[in-house]
Amino acid sequence: MAREEGYRLVHLDLKGAPPKLSYLQQIFPLLKKWNANGLLIEYEDMFPYEGNLKPLASPSAYSKDDVRAIGEMAKDNDLLVIPLVQTFGHLEFVLKHPEFFILREDPGHTRSLCPSKPDSLRLVVEMIDQVMSLHPHLRWFHIGADEVYHLGECDLCKARMLDEGLTKEMLFLSHVRSVAHQVMTKFPTTQLIMWDDMFRLSDAQVIKESGIGSLVEPMVWYYQPCDIPVIDIWKKYSQVFSNIWLGSAFKGATGIQQYATDITYHLGNHVMWLTVMMKEAGKFDHIRGIALTGWQRYDHFTVLCELLPAAIPSLGLCLQTIHTGSFTSKVHETVSQDLQCTGLLPLNPFQLPAAPECSFPGCDIYILGIQLVHLDAQFEWKILSHFRSEQGDLCKMNLPPESEKMSAVLSECERLLSAYEEIRQKFVKSLADVFFPHTVEEWINVHVIVKILKLKDFL
Ligand SMILES: [Zn+2]
Repeated sequence: MAREEGYRLVHLDLKGAPPKLSYLQQIFPLLKKWNANGLLIEYEDMFPYEGNLKPLASPSAYSKDDVRAIGEMAKDNDLLVIPLVQTFGHLEFVLKHPEFFILREDPGHTRSLCPSKPDSLRLVVEMIDQVMSLHPHLRWFHIGADEVYHLGECDLCKARMLDEGLTKEMLFLSHVRSVAHQVMTKFPTTQLIMWDDMFRLSDAQVIKESGIGSLVEPMVWYYQPCDIPVIDIWKKYSQVFSNIWLGSAFKGATGIQQYATDITYHLGNHVMWLTVMMKEAGKFDHIRGIALTGWQRYDHFTVLCELLPAAIPSLGLCLQTIHTGSFTSKVHETVSQDLQCTGLLPLNPFQLPAAPECSFPGCDIYILGIQLVHLDAQFEWKILSHFRSEQGDLCKMNLPPESEKMSAVLSECERLLSAYEEIRQKFVKSLADVFFPHTVEEWINVHVIVKILKLKDFL
């Protein structure tokens, strides 16, 4: 049997900003060119759930044919598909619906499922069944299970913990074990993967005794350029798991409202993972590979951050860095050429005098994003900081309207307003090529219109 490792998965987070299929068709060949060999697809509310799960599907969810077409396009580009379905935490897109309120762990929060209600397990198994039905013969499936912040809080869970002598971590492990058992019984050739963070502070013996080590493979995620700050994490995991996966980030991890990607930061994260792979590989049978995550929002209810086209340069550089084993000038040159840039891709959008000239699918969104960074910087330096430092926020109340200073500031406001209006129109056009109307509207509102309104308020 071939050694099952060397996976380089690109995470397609479809929360809030699902690309049109025509865009995916354009970028999959690029992913292949940069040596990606798989996709970790997080459909969230974009999957065409049906039956009693119909409310989970967004009105703009992909159709069944769309899902099949994405699978075909992936196959054509030698990209193995691994779907991800959350089964414990980050179930906001489920638990926000009145039909599923009852399954919340905390009635006031939509994030976590109660693991003690029988319908909870039925719900996640049904979700997995429906996703599996459109992805036959899967080798791998990801059951999420990260950031379960509400655990053991409801009366049912508290009573169960008391009766069965369970700690919160045992309660967590018990639910994951139930999900894994159900899925493995139905799909015995599919291996399960889950996020690792809920194990980080647990005792190795407790995890081992749960039997989880033979049911799932953890994907250890960390997005900063420094090593994961948990003492002996690799030793602990090696005592429980034979195989592990790694999770890096090429975007969506440096700020909830970030819209332009700081490539330097993400390259640092990938270089860190290369070091970890070299150092820790001997502790495991396999480090299966790495999933390069690209978050579109931090959770279902937060604003959209960097969109996929804005981070294609980061994705290319990070993928090639992982493939090559280091970030070299050759990697920088090759990816810049692949994206038809006139020079080298800038690694930090915040220090550029101007946007670069490139040509790749969605590059208008990337370039406009850099232009917006500079416009926002001018808004901050020339308007906002000025009032904050000298006069307070309410300029009209603090400066006489006829003053020279007020006149200069108002004139700057007018210039910026016109620049924002212009970039808004360009963004609307470029975003519409890649995304559906709801994404275009939301992104423009959050990142451009809010500034236009603020400027109008000053005038
Ligand atoms: Zn509960």
